[in-house]
Amino acid sequence: MKPSRSILSLLSASFSLAIARDDPAAALGAPRAPQVPRRNPVGLGLGREVGRFLQDYLEQRGYTVYAQPVEGGDGDRRNIFAYLGGSNRTRVLVTSHIDTVPPFLPYERRGTELWGRGTVDAKGAVAAQIAAVESLCQTHEIAEEGGDDALLFVVGEEDGSGGMAAANDLGLGWEAVIFGEPTEGKLARGHKGILSVSLAAVGKAGHSGYPEPGTNAIDTLVRGLTGLQSAALPRSDEFGETTLNVGVIQGGVADNVLPAQASAAALVRLATDRVDDTKDVIEKAVHDASPGVQVEFPYSQGPVPIDYDVEGFDTVVLNYGTDIPNLKGNHKCYLYGPGSILVAHSDHEHLDVSVLEVAVEGYRALIGNALKSG
Ligand SMILES: [Zn+2]
Repeated sequence: MKPSRSILSLLSASFSLAIARDDPAAALGAPRAPQVPRRNPVGLGLGREVGRFLQDYLEQRGYTVYAQPVEGGDGDRRNIFAYLGGSNRTRVLVTSHIDTVPPFLPYERRGTELWGRGTVDAKGAVAAQIAAVESLCQTHEIAEEGGDDALLFVVGEEDGSGGMAAANDLGLGWEAVIFGEPTEGKLARGHKGILSVSLAAVGKAGHSGYPEPGTNAIDTLVRGLTGLQSAALPRSDEFGETTLNVGVIQGGVADNVLPAQASAAALVRLATDRVDDTKDVIEKAVHDASPGVQVEFPYSQGPVPIDYDVEGFDTVVLNYGTDIPNLKGNHKCYLYGPGSILVAHSDHEHLDVSVLEVAVEGYRALIGNALKSG
């Protein structure tokens, strides 16, 4: 079924305005010098402007909107929670995230394609979800007086999941929660877990021409990184290989100075739930190669199985993490969305409008299925 003209215009309006109005100044940010590299440091798209846009947009359409403050991060950020009718209690929740990874890339329409930061991850999902809910209201498959479906668009998904953690404070529960992330229109059967690894080395500064009395922290760190890269990480049949990405490396002040400090951050995509075993393997591999390196694991989460008991969808197992494990409660979880993860977080992030149209239908089917069951 083709979405109606009104759905497409809504989709296009919400999408283009939301992205065009997101705050490039905030996205560019002010440089600073973190001690331990964060997952997504300078240049994070915080979702402030898009949050304000969504609040206005949904209020104009009769939703009650609560802009929930979320502590931490770089200042004022808010989740957007919206529902119809007098009660915030609904059977189904549709949710995605409105923050983006750095750097900000301006929104641009090229023919039938939408380019720019967040088009795929995850404002395409946000726009398609809103269009699907609006369309289900028009066809009376979602009751306008409320109780069926609520919308939640969180901040912080790309940087510590503070937004979804705060959403637990809403004190609400649902029968089913439909998460929006780029799955190429497939229904996810599960996704890999995550283990963040911080490495730090301390040296002793000195003149590069006389290295003997000093200690080179970068040398110490690099040996540790070599050990990390050779660690034998576990695999599983359902999730495949556990993979490692060394994503940040920092240290030193000048080429003629022995560096006193060096640090690195890596992210492991876990294919097994043996999280503690994997930490032990990594620690041993680093320390065998370079005993002086400090190893910390700021965050870990095992692989996440996801419900996929809905007819008519291809299914997929994903290598990336989502907010699914951060929302507490005893609900069914579905994960679906437009666009490919292979262009998300890249400088060529884009999708075709036709992909959004298909996603509107996909979300309609998932919401409809959740309301029929139970
Ligand atoms: Zn995402």
